[in-house]
Amino acid sequence: MWRSERLAAAAARIEVELDAAWAALSAEAGEGFTDAELAELVLAEPNRHEWRIVDAALARSVCPECGAQPGAGPRGCPPCDRADGFRFAAREIDRPGVPAGNEHAIRVASAVARTRDRYSPRARAGYELLLPDLIEGALPTTAEAQAVKARINRLSPEQCDRVRSIEELTEREERTAP
Ligand SMILES: [Zn+2]
Repeated sequence: MWRSERLAAAAARIEVELDAAWAALSAEAGEGFTDAELAELVLAEPNRHEWRIVDAALARSVCPECGAQPGAGPRGCPPCDRADGFRFAAREIDRPGVPAGNEHAIRVASAVARTRDRYSPRARAGYELLLPDLIEGALPTTAEAQAVKARINRLSPEQCDRVRSIEELTEREERTAP
């Protein structure tokens, strides 16, 4: 399903982190809350929680309109569009030793990867190709990110969904250069 083993590993790691964040919150809340009740409390005040907890709460909720996880349903589903917007109110705390803004980039890229059907092939290629490096603590400069984007823009939608890595993107460009 994922375009590369690296991305599959990155996506799996995010899922593990979301589950761990949720388990810690549940332990802190103590007995007496169902997951659904706890999720409702978190989503009422996303700005009070770290983003993994908010995304874990979304994963434990159901959109009243479309039945998907809120924020993962089709574009144009009002509760999903709202949920996708307010997830970004959550807190982002950079890990020690990474460039400032790395955590924000991970959060955005992982949100796209986890709800990839809401995005165009170009948009999801851009974020999914970067996600494994972001998780390893890298953060592309604006120029580097623009170069990746420019290369992706020269691909067809089908090629965007097939490209597996930034290296492949670069090699491809060198092969086809005049
Ligand atoms: Zn929905």
